[in-house]
Amino acid sequence: RRITTTDETEEDSRIEPKLRPQRLDEYIGQEKAKQSLKIYIAAAKERHETLDHVLFYGPPGLGKTTLAGIIANEMGTKLRVTSGPAIEKPGDIASILKCLSEGDILFIDEIHRLNRQVEEYLYSAMEDFTMDIMIGKGAGARSIHLPLPHFTLIGATTRAGLLSAPLRDRFGVVHHLEYYTPSELQTIVLRSAEVLGVKIDENGAAEIARRSRGTPRLANRLLKRTRDIAQIRYDGEITEQVARAALDFLEVDRSGLDNLDRMILTTMIDKFGGGPVGLDTLAAAIGEDSGTIEDVYEPYLIKNGFLIRTPKGREVTDLAFSHLGLRR
Ligand code: ATP
Repeated sequence: RRITTTDETEEDSRIEPKLRPQRLDEYIGQEKAKQSLKIYIAAAKERHETLDHVLFYGPPGLGKTTLAGIIANEMGTKLRVTSGPAIEKPGDIASILKCLSEGDILFIDEIHRLNRQVEEYLYSAMEDFTMDIMIGKGAGARSIHLPLPHFTLIGATTRAGLLSAPLRDRFGVVHHLEYYTPSELQTIVLRSAEVLGVKIDENGAAEIARRSRGTPRLANRLLKRTRDIAQIRYDGEITEQVARAALDFLEVDRSGLDNLDRMILTTMIDKFGGGPVGLDTLAAAIGEDSGTIEDVYEPYLIKNGFLIRTPKGREVTDLAFSHLGLRR
């Protein structure tokens, strides 16, 4: 597995609960989402109402689950966490909703992966807090009308466009989570280090932040690995020099690229003169599936200006050449 993956690993799931901020004021970055949530939460509380349903979309590891937990804390209610693929039948969603208390928050991660039938049941649940479910089969089948507690649904997905229009329209609040700046990530690293009891200075945190691809989950993971190296090879404190050496050892370079990213760029340069090269040809050359290149590998390279998409295929940029120490 790549150390730079932004998906949650088993190791992440053990430390993340400890590192999650509990209050909106402790949550770093995402200023726009934070400011508007502050207003909506205060208004709903003043009216003694539940918060409107909220949709968060954006790449993995940017803090969607964390925000859902914070909203529940700020509203003074309970959070129930589930995910799209875990809800298989209408009966599953009915029993989850029935067990909620008035005002509870239901968080559905990967909400775009709900099946159509479950999704259709959710419409009335979100709109007027009722559900009509069919019981039995054939001639004996009957429909029962189920009143539900007033709840807030928080949905999370990577792209809003993955949701069907009727589902998307039922969210009153929609927020796109953005990649974090190096300075925001530096603050997150310093905070996580304090929680974990890791000795680190400002420059050490800045170095980890720069290589974390805009993603708090990765920043926390790199902090943990760097701590191990600082402890075994150095005197335990993470300074800029220690962070640099540790991250070089982990093969995450100064722009956050890992071996695979560099392999894609060097293959394009060595075999195709830097491109343009078609996606399928490139996939065959590096022995990867073209869908994986498109969805997982190339977005970071494109976003950071190492690769561009042209009508003739993918092309390596001047920045990539200079980053790799090569000349065109
Ligand atoms: P996924 O979509 O993959 O489930 P996610 O977007 O829900 O990811 P979280 O699990 O909320 O991401 O965040 C990952 C980790 O990053 C958390 O453990 C948390 O410690 C940290 N984190 C995320 N956002 C922030 C933030 N704004 N401030 C501090 N820490 C953060």
